[in-house]
Amino acid sequence: MTGGKPRSPRGTKYEKAEFPVFEFPVVGKARYEYTTGEALGRFLAGLKEGKILGTYCAKCGRVFVPPRMYCSYCFREVDGWVEARDEGVVVTGVMSYISATRARLERPVAVGVVKLDVPGRQFDDHFFPGLMHYICGASEDDVKSMRIFGARVKARWRPPEQRTGSITDIECFEVVRP
Ligand SMILES: [Zn+2]
Repeated sequence: MTGGKPRSPRGTKYEKAEFPVFEFPVVGKARYEYTTGEALGRFLAGLKEGKILGTYCAKCGRVFVPPRMYCSYCFREVDGWVEARDEGVVVTGVMSYISATRARLERPVAVGVVKLDVPGRQFDDHFFPGLMHYICGASEDDVKSMRIFGARVKARWRPPEQRTGSITDIECFEVVRP
């Protein structure tokens, strides 16, 4: 604008209004942070120590991994913490032909949900502590033939000094061949 009394743009056709124009360079990489809260915070801190932590509800018996502070089935606070083992059984799995950033992969990767073992507790196939993760050591044929369902797997951890308190502290769940 070049001096004079600024015109109110209200009621003025857009193309006739005189606006100051600001230009911003496009920010290519947005970084943001948020608090994890107690449950996810302890879960992530546990991963750094090589532990998979969850919480349990004494009323319905459910175990939540990743943990929650409230049981959404009983509408009450959970009763405590449990440590799941870093192994379990593949409940479902698929071959993925795209990466986490949607790039096409030359070699597909197996991704699945692992029903984790928790000592002293049994779970049915509907409510169980489970994590979705990469399944390594599974071939395309293992997945297509559905042999992968029910396979025993164990976490492959990154070395302690490389862990950052992230789900990627576990590289993948590796198929345990009998
Ligand atoms: Zn409950």
